Amino acid sequence: MDTPAGPPPSNLFYQSRARRPVLDRAEGVYLWDRDGKRYLDGSSGAMVSNIGHSNPRVLAAMREQMDKATFGYRLHFENEPAEKLASLVASLMPKGLDRVFFVSGGSEAVESALKLARQWAVASGQASRWKVISRYPSYHGSTLGALAVTGMALMTAPFSPMLREMPRIPAPTCYLDRDELTPDERGLRYAEMLRTEILRQGPETVLGFIMEPVGGASTGALVAPDPYYARIREICDEFGILLIYDEVMSGAGRTGRFLAAEHWGIRPDIVVVSKGFAAGYSPLGALIADRRLVEPVLDAGGFIHGYTYAGNPLACAAGLAVVEETLERDLMGNATRIGALLKTELRGLMARYPFVGDVRGKGLLLAFELVSDRETMEPLPVAYDAYVRLVEQAYERGLIIYSRRTRGGRAGDHFLVCPPLIADRDHVAEIMEKLTASLD
Ligand code: PMP
Repeated sequence: MDTPAGPPPSNLFYQSRARRPVLDRAEGVYLWDRDGKRYLDGSSGAMVSNIGHSNPRVLAAMREQMDKATFGYRLHFENEPAEKLASLVASLMPKGLDRVFFVSGGSEAVESALKLARQWAVASGQASRWKVISRYPSYHGSTLGALAVTGMALMTAPFSPMLREMPRIPAPTCYLDRDELTPDERGLRYAEMLRTEILRQGPETVLGFIMEPVGGASTGALVAPDPYYARIREICDEFGILLIYDEVMSGAGRTGRFLAAEHWGIRPDIVVVSKGFAAGYSPLGALIADRRLVEPVLDAGGFIHGYTYAGNPLACAAGLAVVEETLERDLMGNATRIGALLKTELRGLMARYPFVGDVRGKGLLLAFELVSDRETMEPLPVAYDAYVRLVEQAYERGLIIYSRRTRGGRAGDHFLVCPPLIADRDHVAEIMEKLTASLD
């Protein structure tokens, strides 16, 4: 019998039947597949590999920890890497935001934030508060709790009978608005929507508001006009509502500061990080909370929540080495400098292609959006599948970028161009050359 053509069958499945190249090795900003083809990691995976691949310092720290212990159950043991990492993280936070709870990823971090917030409300005599308002579009994770605050119908609709969906307000997609307002006025208009929603829901039922300060997959590096951020904080304070920053994608230095919150001097009540936090060396995330939230919960009998692998010594050793490397090599400074250069180059695409409608982002969290008409910002037709086709073109040329079409939302086909924070000018040139050829 003839062997059928094509790749050998595999027992693996992920989100679709699409076959992907098999990863062989990775170093710096490059990955190689099993056939020896090289790819520039233009989206750091999914904004994960902040310090690049195969970093010797991180690998050495992990090996050293492996020789000592790879696991100790958290209810039985604390471990030194976790203690050191928590203290380093706390030193990078605004004052008072210094209680750290480790998890193994972004969804777990968001889930933990929601559950801590709720337990704080109960412990502090505010049991009527349970609603966490979020934005639309937004992405906060794939567990059912995180989905309850995720504003992406594509992700939530199949699970609607299982979800208790929370109220949502529009994300500040000011770049799509065609009105007489200044950008700042537009930003404030979006912030006021939170106040209106809180009043509509009944402030005594509202527990928190969750947002990505710089958007990720759902909105493609969306940044609001500056006044938005302080006004949101003010509104939360007016009603005693917790402000939760989801910095799973924007945190750990990607925007040029450890937290994107720092750009606006905002102190959230809870912030979550993951992705770049251990930069792909190990599954790791963290919830960092105001001690005034955590202490009442512990006093009232404890935080009813946990994950078996949370804060294991190997993951924390990786995270510690990643954060140390980020700080010591000033990778956040590099993200600011190289991000500015890359953003200018991406803006140049707008002069060349009328269908590049917008370029946005901060540091090395950057995106561009394709539209059919830049004046109206009308998206490309869904059937055109731009978000798939451009990625395929880039792939062929050995460049990886990350795309989404936020169907049902206002945003159209957007592409995140987010290389590791170690990228240099030559990498920017290579990205632009491959991207231009793909757009052509
Ligand atoms: N929040 C944000 C902002 C994210 O971008 C993501 C992942 N794309 C998550 C949460 C969920 O993280 P994870 O996939 O690690 O569970």
